[in-house]
Amino acid sequence: MLTLASIVFSVKAHAQSPNVVADVAPIHSLVAQVMKGVGKPALLVPAKVSPHGHALKVSQMRALTQADVVFWVGEALTPWLEKALDRLPEDAEAVELLDADGLNLLTYDTDEEEGDDHDEHEDHDDHHHDHDHAGLDPHIWLDPANAKVLIDAIANTLAQRDAANAERYKTNAETAKETLEKLLTDTHSATKAIKDKRYIVYHDGYRYFEAQFGLGRAVAIADGHAAKPGAKRLIAIRKTVSELSPRCIFSESQFETRPVQSLLRGTDATEAQLDPMGQSIEPGPHLYETLIRNLTNTFTRCLK
Ligand SMILES: [Zn+2]
Repeated sequence: MLTLASIVFSVKAHAQSPNVVADVAPIHSLVAQVMKGVGKPALLVPAKVSPHGHALKVSQMRALTQADVVFWVGEALTPWLEKALDRLPEDAEAVELLDADGLNLLTYDTDEEEGDDHDEHEDHDDHHHDHDHAGLDPHIWLDPANAKVLIDAIANTLAQRDAANAERYKTNAETAKETLEKLLTDTHSATKAIKDKRYIVYHDGYRYFEAQFGLGRAVAIADGHAAKPGAKRLIAIRKTVSELSPRCIFSESQFETRPVQSLLRGTDATEAQLDPMGQSIEPGPHLYETLIRNLTNTFTRCLK
């Protein structure tokens, strides 16, 4: 029998669970796993929309003004979100996941930028601030080992914010990390056969997946911010394509396929579509695992 005290307690516990917003669907999925049984996070960037160069809508602004906690990758992925986060309620917290301890971080064009100019970084800690992410590839979720780090960062933040449910967040995090560990093992064995294959991707967003699973570096039609490729870049890529004769050219549902179609002409390459944001998947706790498994299937089917 429910006593009055237990009813009051459960209502109160529910009312206290924080309003949580996540920026993009893969991050939203990780947050949803941590919040299982406590509440559901809101998704800021709708699944069908590319986060690169998105503009905030009124309804999204409203979700932010009601947020207690916002998890976002960082301005390297969604520069348009940074200003909006200034308008969060005073006691709300925005957690920039690129700052999470223990992430394996990759930069764009490391080879070209890394030299013997280490002096520049000497006072790094003194100058460190939230915006020190120049050149960083923000597609961190495409490495499930990074997803494990993000799970801990999310669970720790929520446990501090919502002490009543701290145990639940931590138990959920352990379960989520076990699933991710299995996902890592499965993906490593699935990608063994495609390690030396050559391929083209639409935008430069797959470094984390390639690095974790030992795939060759893709040639990208568009850069990591998915800026529309100019004529010069397209000419260079066309040349690369004819030299490499890649097995596959991967388009993405979030971007127009015309540059891919035009590159395909006159090659033996096959076209397949990658979905690095989980646009074809129902948002929620299962999206993340499905995203990685779909990505793996698309790569292996086309490149084998
Ligand atoms: Zn991207």
